[in-house]
Amino acid sequence: MRNSMKGRIELLKVDITLLAVEAIVNAANSSLLGGGGVDGAIHRKAGPELLGECRTLGGCDTGDAKITKGYNLPADYVIHTVGPVYRGGLYGESRLLQSCYRRCFEVANENRIKSIAFPSISTGAYGYPISEASSIALSETLSQLMRFPGIGRVIFALFSDADLDIYRKVLKGS
Ligand code: ADP
Repeated sequence: MRNSMKGRIELLKVDITLLAVEAIVNAANSSLLGGGGVDGAIHRKAGPELLGECRTLGGCDTGDAKITKGYNLPADYVIHTVGPVYRGGLYGESRLLQSCYRRCFEVANENRIKSIAFPSISTGAYGYPISEASSIALSETLSQLMRFPGIGRVIFALFSDADLDIYRKVLKGS
């Protein structure tokens, strides 16, 4: 069962802003008003209209997700989610990170999105150790793919060979 779910997951070393999937996920901050890392790259490529739409959303709680259009991005939509800042692991970080992935799939499903790409949420500026974060990302994705058969393709857009390698090992073992 889990093997057929795995067939819907691709791990790529790629800039997420280049992907022509229906939705890309943004690792945003709770203001949704832009930041560094992948958030900055998405806003730069999408253009100022994205910030305009984000301003209407009233921010986003950690662990939740909100959708906008993709504007100048090749993706039709951006699903903005807010990962937890890692503070040692004893502050509910794993539950919140899991919730980010779950909410992104729920929002994707509500919008009939069939292909979605994720960055490695929280593992940049927010400091989440990537070995733990990748295992949460992949196990939650496998669960959500079971729940939503309409979502046929999930890409993890990893930003370095080292990150790609970790995700590959974790997916192989799951
Ligand atoms: P967070 O604040 O959630 O930690 P960051 O954007 O700082 O978010 O980092 C999340 C991950 O996204 C990191 O692995 C970072 O290397 C990666 N990243 C940065 N820019 C891009 C991009 N254009 N495409 C895909 N991943 C990116």
